Order: sequence, then C-alpha cells, then structure tokens
Amino acid sequence: MALDMRSPIESGCPDGFQYMHPTMRRNYGLWKYHEHPRPGVLVHYAHSGEEIWTVKCATQRILDSFTLRTLCDIGDKYADGYIHFTIRSNVEYVVDTEEKVQPLIDAIEAAGFIVGGTANSITTLSHTQGWLHCDIPATDASGVVKSMMDELIDEFKECNMPNRVHMSTSCCQINCGGSSDIAINIQHTKPPRIDHTQVGNVCERPSVVARCPVAAIRPAMVDGKPSLEVDEKKCICCGACFPPCPPMQINDAEHSKLAIWVGGNHSNARGKPTFQRLVAAGVPNNPPRWPEVTAIVKKILNTYKTDAKDWERMNDWIERIGWPQFFEKTGLPFTKYHIDNWRGARNSLNASTHIRF
Ligand code: SF4
Ligand code: SF4
Repeated sequence: MALDMRSPIESGCPDGFQYMHPTMRRNYGLWKYHEHPRPGVLVHYAHSGEEIWTVKCATQRILDSFTLRTLCDIGDKYADGYIHFTIRSNVEYVVDTEEKVQPLIDAIEAAGFIVGGTANSITTLSHTQGWLHCDIPATDASGVVKSMMDELIDEFKECNMPNRVHMSTSCCQINCGGSSDIAINIQHTKPPRIDHTQVGNVCERPSVVARCPVAAIRPAMVDGKPSLEVDEKKCICCGACFPPCPPMQINDAEHSKLAIWVGGNHSNARGKPTFQRLVAAGVPNNPPRWPEVTAIVKKILNTYKTDAKDWERMNDWIERIGWPQFFEKTGLPFTKYHIDNWRGARNSLNASTHIRF
C-alpha cells in the first residue's frame, strides 16, 4: 500500500521579495549608483532610469503594538505601504519619487521618531533583548542602548564622525554581543555560587561538566547528594554553566560588571577582519541610566572624532596610532586586567582571524 508522505513544514524566513517595494523588486541587482543627499536619506538610481528614495529612522528597539501600528500607518500613508526593519532596529521607508520624501520625514518627526543613522553617523546600537526572553541575561541591554542613544542623539541625526560607527551591547557574557566598533558586554568577575540542594533535581550533570570551556567543573557528592564543584583557580567566570544548570548562580548585582571592547570589524574590499580588544573592565552595571558606561563610550567617540582621518573606521584609526596612543589620547587607564594572564593564554594570545590547525 502506498503511503501518503507528510509534506515538509518549511519554517524560517519567508521570501523577502514579496515585501519589497515594486520599484525595488523590478530593479533588483540592477542598480547603477547611489547618493546620500542628507542625513537619514539615500537615493539609489537604477540602470532602467527608475529611482528609490530611502528614509531611515530610529526606534527604541523593543516595540509595543501601539508604536508598531504608528510606524505602519506612516508607511501606509506616506511610503507606498512598505516598511523595512534593519538589523540595528532602524526602520526604513522607501518611496519612488523625491516629492514623497519631505512629507514622509515630516510625518516621521511629527510622530516623535528621529531621522538619521546613515553614512558617517552613529547608527542605533544593535543589542539583544535577553532581559525579556533569554535564560542567562545579567543586564538589560536595551536599557543601556536607550540611555546611551539619548545622549548620542545628535550624532545619529548628523554625519559628523570620520566614518560610520556601529555599536552593540549584550546582556550576557557568552553569546550575542557581536562585532562592532564599540561593544558593551557583560563581564562576570566571580565564579558561580552553587546551590547544592538543587543541582541533583534540576541539572543534567554530564552536560554541565561538558559545557565548561576550561574543564573547571567536576561531579561531586555534597551532603550525601549528587552535585558539582568548581575549581575556582581554573574558572574564567564565563557563565556558560548557568544556562544548563540555574543553581550555578553567576549573576550578581555587585560582581556582574560591564566591559567595553573596541575595534571589531568584518573584512571588506580594503582590509582584513579585526578582533575587538578590551579597553575598559569592571565598569558598574548601574541601571537605570548606566552613566559610567556612557561616559567612557563618549570619551572614546570624542577622541575618535577629533583624531581620526576622514573615512578611517575605528579599527583603522587605532591601528594607525597604536594601542599605547589610544590609551593616552582617550585617558583610559591601562590596568592589569588588560593583560591576558590566563593559563591558556599561550593559545589565546596567539589569536588571529586566520584559520589554522
Ligand atoms: S546576549 Fe546572552 S542573555 Fe542576551 S539574548 Fe544573547 S544569549 Fe541571551
Ligand atoms: S563560569 Fe565558565 S569557566 Fe567557570 S565553571 Fe562555569 S562554565 Fe566553567
């Protein structure tokens, strides 16, 4: 008897073409050149003679349905019914004639959103919203973004930086975080505190042992119950054991700090990729406005703005002046925490972006 096979369930991203502006769809891959007439606006010219005007505006990243409806209504009324979200939570509206641009900008600004974020500006920070749904956050990354962008709003609206500046934040130490010109990441500074009464009930001990990147966790019997123990000399306080085993409590109001890394960049036509480097450690994780982090980030940005040559990205600027000059010019202290003294440093000091075996 022939069996009826179940048809596969396709999940993942839907086909993006159905959401594209028809002019964009018609000219896909057939663009001639583009221009940047003013901050927040781009115009692309196609070989066919058609053009697309893009207006970019910032959002607060975590959107309630009222805000989403407001943004979509603007799209319906002023932007031919199309709206895109970028990876950095900006919204892009596209229209096919220049006449539609100013009424669109007026509507965006009247609704309280800010137009900008193109070319050599500071675009919205990308961040993770683990505070809402993930299992390992130690800070509210979206809060850091909001308080920092409130202070950098003029740099979003204007194009005054040497080149574009991408920033990111992460709410834990190990996963998202990204590669950015400036990254603000959580930094745990003490090994996990273990609730031995819960480990036997909650945790798959072999998977927790396997999760540790430096083999610091061993199975142990504590008070007659199966539990785990941590070799604190080996532990690098990464927090990777916490997701599979919540009794390995690593988050701590006092000891979970923030760290600032700079100079990460993907490879492009002109240069190879670069790693981020730690420039500030142990910065207080201080909600609701995180003033200490913002002060350091602004110090780095101001130095970059005044010292870098036109079109130098942050990593290019640091490479030209050198790290000693970076610390001198920004006034950030160079401390023992900038030196990798971990026992596995023989490998990590050897780090490069080249694959080797
Ligand atoms: S940064 Fe960490 S806590 Fe935040 S969403 Fe990513 S994995 Fe989750
Ligand atoms: S925090 Fe990281 S290094 Fe320390 S025990 Fe847990 S997984 Fe291992």
